[in-house]
Amino acid sequence: MEGNSQYPHRRWNPLRQAWVLVSPHRTQRPWQGEVGQKAAPSAVSYDPKCYLCPGNARAGGAQNPTYEGIFSFVNDYSALLPDSPAPSGAPSSPLLLASPARGLCKVLCYHPDHSLTLARMTRAEIRPVVDAWTAQYLEIGGLDGIEYVQIFENRGAMMGASNPHPHGQIWSTSFVPDEPAAETAAQRQHLADTGRCLLCDYLEAERSAGERIVFENDHFTALVPWWAVWPFEVLLLSRRHLGAMPEFTGDERNGLADALKRLTPRYDNLFETSFPYTMGFHQSPTDGAKTPGEAHPEWHFHAHFYPPLLRSATVRKFMVGFEMLGMPQRDITPEDAARRLRACSEEHFWPRA
Ligand SMILES: [Zn+2]
Ligand SMILES: [Zn+2]
Ligand SMILES: [Zn+2]
Repeated sequence: MEGNSQYPHRRWNPLRQAWVLVSPHRTQRPWQGEVGQKAAPSAVSYDPKCYLCPGNARAGGAQNPTYEGIFSFVNDYSALLPDSPAPSGAPSSPLLLASPARGLCKVLCYHPDHSLTLARMTRAEIRPVVDAWTAQYLEIGGLDGIEYVQIFENRGAMMGASNPHPHGQIWSTSFVPDEPAAETAAQRQHLADTGRCLLCDYLEAERSAGERIVFENDHFTALVPWWAVWPFEVLLLSRRHLGAMPEFTGDERNGLADALKRLTPRYDNLFETSFPYTMGFHQSPTDGAKTPGEAHPEWHFHAHFYPPLLRSATVRKFMVGFEMLGMPQRDITPEDAARRLRACSEEHFWPRA
């Protein structure tokens, strides 16, 4: 970015229709706040106390099969239930509105080995995870009354993950949640205004600028978005215009496995830690009767990675103060973050035995 990028400025997020404050001059401020624990990958491949390891009993009383590949089950403590009744009675005020919320929360174990993470799995091990995500999106999205399927992963205690076993979650809802709803509106408006896809246009702009790209393969581009809030936030975009995983070719499924295999070790290598993050896929809502691509021509498949670490394995960014009351703010520029991630090796600092 040219000229004055080292001074405070605002950047526009066209996908979320919101501004971000960038304050690069602030990166030198001293840190006397919380210092967390460095996170190492688990050293044992089976933990008798883990509720996700094969054969173990779960907290709710169910027992896991001795699975050898991928294993999914309905969360024993689901945030959503398929048959919750609608709130009863008329509200005493239109300002005291409630609405039914139904859905399903599932857990997807990526691998039986407790010590692994996506970053330390092979492409050949990640590909079946991509297949399982695709099958779950199709199956759950096809259920009556399910309008959205959110596939995501919380990694690390810093992000509130309660268990280090390699796993993600799939929450589905009888409504389109706020984040994808806002992105649907922005993409729909851009299509109406220009006749083109917002994220196809954005990807073209980023590829010609170049400086925020972390890496690419034939099917996906990983970049630190212009409007990133989290220090090392990454947006992973499909190169082809498609709305959801079922539209992927076999090569594109391999391409997604390859992109995950190349991004997650870079993250771990950055501060030589098991890098915490929330990541998730944003894809077409499943609220249309037609196939997602037809019902939602505006939607462009992507993944968001939101890692909290700021300057070391133990110092994180907080979203507090002005960020809660005003707007999000960041210190290091997205261009600097992309440069640092580009410089990281794709070979994990802690190789598998
Ligand atoms: Zn485990
Ligand atoms: Zn597109
Ligand atoms: Zn998104």
